[in-house]
Amino acid sequence: MELYQVQILAFAALICCTSSAYGWGVDGHLITCRLAQPRLSKATADAVSQLLPAYADDDLGSVCSWADQVRFRYRWSSALHYIDTPDNLCSYLYKRDCKDEDGIQDRCVAGAIYNYTNQLLSYGNGNSQYNLTEALLFLSHFIGDIHQPLHVGFTSDKGGNTIDVDWYTTKTVLHHVWDVSIIETAEERFYDSNVDELINKLQTNITTVWANQAKAWEACSKTACPDAYATEGIKAACDWAYKGVSNSSVLEDDYFLSRYPVVNMRLAQGGVRLAATLNRIFG
Ligand SMILES: [Zn+2]
Repeated sequence: MELYQVQILAFAALICCTSSAYGWGVDGHLITCRLAQPRLSKATADAVSQLLPAYADDDLGSVCSWADQVRFRYRWSSALHYIDTPDNLCSYLYKRDCKDEDGIQDRCVAGAIYNYTNQLLSYGNGNSQYNLTEALLFLSHFIGDIHQPLHVGFTSDKGGNTIDVDWYTTKTVLHHVWDVSIIETAEERFYDSNVDELINKLQTNITTVWANQAKAWEACSKTACPDAYATEGIKAACDWAYKGVSNSSVLEDDYFLSRYPVVNMRLAQGGVRLAATLNRIFG
């Protein structure tokens, strides 16, 4: 094998096998951003339009995974995708849990949501000292991540990253099941492998069967409410993601069919809340 082929393979392995630690996969983020964008007020849509890079062509979904793509270039940002909570407590407290591995306060996904919300509030104040395009892309991504239940997981298993499981016949880790596998299997089985059909289905549910709940999802007495989402997240992690799973568990239809509705709900909540947060910032 030529050296460049080895390098390409090594690079591909790096991409494939490290991505799972950083949040919903590409489709999960695409779904939350695509659900959010049609819910933006006129003023918010205009601001988002101004801030999106030209290559996004006004499509927030197309850049919703940008924060994952820059995690090597911006090494400081990798702790901002998740929260480690104490093992088995099934609770979250900002002061106790929102810190990185070196114990630096505020460096977790909830802290990042507060920080980028504050940065974006300077939009329209003349020359902001911040890069508000990056702030928008980070915020849109992190509101997605905080809704992935295992992004608010236990410390010792790194949110399910060290729990080996079989997803049907494929070896993976529990964290990846929640980032990617459940969504992928649902797309294949119910939506002809077409993510747009899944988005349409969730969009319809938000305006019909979930309409009343969706109002409650939006509620927030401040500009951003990540602590409430994190508390729901660790509870869902305990009640659904970790429940009945140990190292070497084989996860099949029983697990998929009971957890898939939870994933759907969290994706919908992420989309509704991203839109509501942006509307509070720019509205
Ligand atoms: Zn992420």
